[in-house]
Amino acid sequence: MQDKQYLMMPGPTPVPPSVYAAMSRPVGGHRTDEFARMHKRIVEKLKRVFQTQNDIFVITNSGTGALETAIANTVSARDKVLALITGNFGERFANIARAYGAELIEVNFGYGKDVDLSVVEEKLRQNPDVKVVLATQNETSTGVCNDIAGIGALVARTPALLLVDGVSGVGAIEIKVDEWGIDMLCTASQKAFMLPPGLAMVSVSDKAWGVVNNNKAPRFYFSIPAFKKVLDKWNTAYTPNVTLFYGLEAALEMMEAEGLDNVYTRHALLARATRAAVKALGLRLLAEERYASNALTAVWGPEGIAADDLRKIIKNKYGVIFAGGQGEVKGKIIRIAHMGFADKMDVIIAVSALEMALAEAGYPVQLGAGIAAAQEVFLGRV
Ligand SMILES: *Cc1c(COP(=O)(O)O)cnc(C)c1O
Repeated sequence: MQDKQYLMMPGPTPVPPSVYAAMSRPVGGHRTDEFARMHKRIVEKLKRVFQTQNDIFVITNSGTGALETAIANTVSARDKVLALITGNFGERFANIARAYGAELIEVNFGYGKDVDLSVVEEKLRQNPDVKVVLATQNETSTGVCNDIAGIGALVARTPALLLVDGVSGVGAIEIKVDEWGIDMLCTASQKAFMLPPGLAMVSVSDKAWGVVNNNKAPRFYFSIPAFKKVLDKWNTAYTPNVTLFYGLEAALEMMEAEGLDNVYTRHALLARATRAAVKALGLRLLAEERYASNALTAVWGPEGIAADDLRKIIKNKYGVIFAGGQGEVKGKIIRIAHMGFADKMDVIIAVSALEMALAEAGYPVQLGAGIAAAQEVFLGRV
């Protein structure tokens, strides 16, 4: 059926009607008082999401642009960079640093595992000259949520900067930039912020500024000093995606109306229901429960059935769009997103489609078992 789709992949995610409505306004000028006032309001709201007093720059980029901004402004050729990798996006962050000539120390914890703090402590002790540490808050390729507070406490004792990829976590999972010692937090519009792709956000700590202002890597579009030069007038260095700024303000207003704590609690509930449903169907989760993501759930494909074939049935017959595996787990897993504009009935739809596709693929499924498990969670019975 035309226009009927259930977008349940970890980005882009569904956009709420009120955000679309805000973006249907005629585009305005970006060197105007109206834009400046809106820009200021947006950054004030973002500071509450990031839990920071640091400057936050809203830039017209995808999430990878935010990651490259962080690297281009802190890493010079031959700098030692410690990359804490738990999946495909951790690998990407490391690869950006490599592109800027970093000398990398890559620690790969494996797909489906989280960062082991004792290893981080040891690596930092062995390499006192590390300039930058790269970490992923929510590893979207595996549905693993890392202990950024724990990593932050270790890095804060060293001269190194902590750069965090929060592209799929911020807005779904609480993060405390100042308390946890995050020197740069990167995120983007199309995941938990309920917007189309196109905006990225980066915060910069006092500890980071010293490095940012003197960094030797070539940078132009990604230059944070260039962004900073015009921020006191709430201007942007280049033409921003003004339409997405309208949407971002509406999305942030929605999040504040719900209450940020309630937003995080909702994500935790949806994740718990999804995991309960998947387990009730006899499928295995990629991540252990103690560090499983609240923003998305990664599920191993059932024995003998290709995960991507199952996804094809789910998409073609039911219009439900899940994501597949990336990197090491390509073709082996299904990723179900429950982030941003997602609520209880979205989980019910996702699980229902999964059950029907499993039955059609010949997997011995008891129809309704997964849905019942999710319903038990929603009714507060488990
Ligand atoms: C989506 C994502 C990115 C990449 O963002 P793009 O907008 O596709 O450039 C980076 N890191 C994580 C953790 C992500 O989920």
